[in-house]
Amino acid sequence: MVTYSSGLTDAPARPESVRRGAGLDVRAIRADFPILDQSVDGKPLVYLDSAASSQKPRQVIDAISNYYKRDHANVHRGVHELARRATEAYEASRERVARWVNATDAHEIVWTRGTSEALNLVAFSIGQARVGHGDEIVLSEMEHHSNLVPWQLLATRSGARLRYVGLTDQGQLDLDHLASLLGPRTRVVALSHVSNALGTINPVREIGTLVRAKTDAAYILDGAQGAPHLPVDVQSLGCDFYAFSGHKMCGPTGIGALWGRRALLDEMPPYQGGGEMIETVYPDHSTWAEVPHKFEAGTPNIAGAVGMAAAVEYLDRVGLAAIHEHEMTLTRLAVTLLSGVEGVRIFGPAKAEERAGVVPFVIEGTSAQDVATMLDAQAIAVRAGHHCAQLVVNRYGVSATTRASFYLYNTIEEIERFAAGVRTARDILLS
Ligand code: PLP
Repeated sequence: MVTYSSGLTDAPARPESVRRGAGLDVRAIRADFPILDQSVDGKPLVYLDSAASSQKPRQVIDAISNYYKRDHANVHRGVHELARRATEAYEASRERVARWVNATDAHEIVWTRGTSEALNLVAFSIGQARVGHGDEIVLSEMEHHSNLVPWQLLATRSGARLRYVGLTDQGQLDLDHLASLLGPRTRVVALSHVSNALGTINPVREIGTLVRAKTDAAYILDGAQGAPHLPVDVQSLGCDFYAFSGHKMCGPTGIGALWGRRALLDEMPPYQGGGEMIETVYPDHSTWAEVPHKFEAGTPNIAGAVGMAAAVEYLDRVGLAAIHEHEMTLTRLAVTLLSGVEGVRIFGPAKAEERAGVVPFVIEGTSAQDVATMLDAQAIAVRAGHHCAQLVVNRYGVSATTRASFYLYNTIEEIERFAAGVRTARDILLS
């Protein structure tokens, strides 16, 4: 955690690159997001809650709508034209998402409801296959509850032991501590690519090298906040599983994906039983369909998969590198401006390069919830609470923070309105 010095009263001059928005045509991008073009109580909406859920471009909304208007039927089972089209759309979407994360094979993408379900799937199935009494599962204090509770459930079931990597005062994983926790009993190492509560971008590739050198553990990445903001190449990251959610990356809710190494997916037992995931059913047992269908029981979220592929297409067209650059510009500005508000304490890494577009903060002497409510009164949408990461806020001695989070459609002017809004909130709440 970094406590930035307070006391600056004037906003610093903005460099040219900041004014331009670092290469993205944000005006054109905003035109794709109809929801952003609205006022709340007469003030233009400023949406700074994308880490919770991003907004959706017209291209994604249209893809879902067109699918339902033209192509919908259940997948895989039918011989009729619509069933063929729906199956084709569903499987082509899988291939699109597989290409996006550079999977070697589309069969390595399992559709899930989101990151939470993907992580529950891995914890359950790899747990059955590989984790026993006395084995160790390495997590960190930075984890979202979705990458924590499933492992607690596994530890309770199996008698495995949870080990937690500590955090530095700057909001980073303590890598020496991590190295010291890895050993012959380590079966699983599960970490977030990017922290939703601090914004920290973790050095996951380097950690992968360390995990490989010291253990034969499964290395699992929670990519809920990584995939929307950073180019992901699962082959070069060196992980075994990567979990992500559609709704945080311009796609619909209720859909996400788990990328897994084929050999591991083959080895793991199914997570849920039902239609679609079987090969043959006998009275006393069944055999399983091939990966990934083994993990996709029941009628899937076909329209969701189509929408997620459209979101990937959209993000690819804009370019993740440019999006990340733009977010760094916004983050740098937000941190600088907030640092000028007396009593503001910002959490997470000091360098914008080490932080995704997430700025959590408190105003000393006020409640995080009150600050968010005051911002809402100015039509600025942020989030307050523990952000489903209670260990993180506890680590830094608070029970909640106010969190602003940015995405490709946010502008410099919005960040300035946000900072002015925080100043107003502070003045009113402490008056
Ligand atoms: N992991 C992280 C880091 C998150 O930020 C979130 C959602 O906020 C999740 C996991 C869970 O994602 P979902 O609710 O889409 O399953």
